[in-house]
Amino acid sequence: MKYFIKTFGCQQNHSDSERIESALYARGMTKARSYKTAEYIVINSCMVRESAENRVYGLVNNLKKLKMKNEKLKIIVTGCMVGLAFRDKTGKYLKKIRETMPEVDEFLPVEEIGFDNAPVRQDRVNALVPISNGCNNFCTFCIVPFTRGREISRPYQNIINECKNLKKRGYRTVTLLGQNVNSYGADLIYPASVIPNEVRDLKKDSSTPFRSARNDKRFNLNGKNVKPIYVKHLGRFRIPTLFSHLLEQVAKMGFEKVDFISSNPWDFSDELISVIARNKNITRTLHLPVQSGNDNVLKRMNRWYSASDYVALISKIKNEISNIKFTTDIIVGFCGETEKEFNNTVKLAKKVKFEKAYLAMYSPRFGTSATKVFKDDVPHSVKEKRWKILDELINKPHLVRYQSTNES
Ligand code: SF4
Repeated sequence: MKYFIKTFGCQQNHSDSERIESALYARGMTKARSYKTAEYIVINSCMVRESAENRVYGLVNNLKKLKMKNEKLKIIVTGCMVGLAFRDKTGKYLKKIRETMPEVDEFLPVEEIGFDNAPVRQDRVNALVPISNGCNNFCTFCIVPFTRGREISRPYQNIINECKNLKKRGYRTVTLLGQNVNSYGADLIYPASVIPNEVRDLKKDSSTPFRSARNDKRFNLNGKNVKPIYVKHLGRFRIPTLFSHLLEQVAKMGFEKVDFISSNPWDFSDELISVIARNKNITRTLHLPVQSGNDNVLKRMNRWYSASDYVALISKIKNEISNIKFTTDIIVGFCGETEKEFNNTVKLAKKVKFEKAYLAMYSPRFGTSATKVFKDDVPHSVKEKRWKILDELINKPHLVRYQSTNES
């Protein structure tokens, strides 16, 4: 039997497809060159925006004709749409996708694929290596915590072994993948029973005796000498996660380049900055999603940093790492975004001078808090206008070249 896999969406989905491919190989299938010669079509879906979801519906609709010609043809949908369908306790979303795509033979949760088989890599130079799956952050616009569930870290040694093997096979670069790589390992090594109460229960509050005296205190955990870090959205100190250790160990294996995505601004620790600074083969282009440059919009998005926190972090990183560049994600036209609020994003972009921005016009996503609580009240024409302003400012600097930097 011949298979064909179509992947929509982010690198995490592409990495999942590499594991799906290995599972199909293990079942004795071979790869078809196109949909037309396949008998088993897997669609790895994305639903980060409405347009991504619509592309999946459109593809299945187009495959209808093939299915009419070949009754043996199986269509399987997996990825984010199925993740949401199986997590939505109301059953409404599963009903919706079943009704919209009656041609689909199976809706397969991607978790069923597992990590047992070595992925069939599409790239001979750069390897995508997933380190965690899911997210605990619940930004109000984002569907990921519903499609991929709560964050689960992949075992540390498992990742190290995979990277060593990639190095032996001649891979030159690796990209470590997770929804928030900074929190990698928080669920692995520091269960509540191990974290000293002293650290777990301390708040960064000037009224407590804690403050700076203990800020520098180190704790011995699992043989590691660790310093607590302050996590603003938790309102307290937390033991650092394993990401900086993992990143350094992978960097020391001798790859030409080690990249990682995505990393969030609120828990980008000093330790992580030091690890990047002292390992020259770790990427010098950091992707740090800002989403908005206005504090009220950030609050509505449930992003636990302010625009000035973000700019301060960028300056700190620039001071410690030379030649560092930044890329970002920005959503325009989020619920209630005023002209003034949008202009704060423009100002922030002028200050930071991003290399590139992945821009999106806000669209409501099923089940997210923004959809439940706010109105999608920014007209589409305004979203388009704002998108174009940022696109020209950040992505087409030959047209605008930050000529207004001094204004901000
Ligand atoms: S951090 Fe926020 S935007 Fe990123 S995956 Fe998690 S919920 Fe979505």
